[in-house]
Amino acid sequence: MAFDELYQEIIRDHYKHPRNKKPLSHVKAFENPSCGDTVKVELDTAGERIQSVYFDGSGCSISMCSASMMSDLLSGRTVDEARRLVEEFLAVIRGEISPEKLDELGDLAALKGVVELPVRVKCATLAWHAVEQALNQQPK
Ligand code: ZN
Repeated sequence: MAFDELYQEIIRDHYKHPRNKKPLSHVKAFENPSCGDTVKVELDTAGERIQSVYFDGSGCSISMCSASMMSDLLSGRTVDEARRLVEEFLAVIRGEISPEKLDELGDLAALKGVVELPVRVKCATLAWHAVEQALNQQPK
């Protein structure tokens, strides 16, 4: 029970104080029509290193906090590391690997409950699909 409260607090904190959020008017939005969430993602890279992942958007607390956590986790990584982390997160959400994996990903552990809520999965994964596309546009 205390863990649930901790997770709620982490989600609330990212929702109220999103990390790496700034207006990205020139970036195409990813949308989740079933909930009305929109997320845009931009990478600030220096060679193979992602200096910052920025996001912009609006929507429910799950979509916004997932975007904030994603930007936190991937900023400072290499493009290859970021690709691997995105693949891991999406595999957890798809139920292919254990939700316990999220314990290794910092604040993302707070999203473990979402795995059991199929209706929120599109909210949780929106930013990750957006960053996946941005990563795929990086030179190999
Ligand atoms: Zn949503």
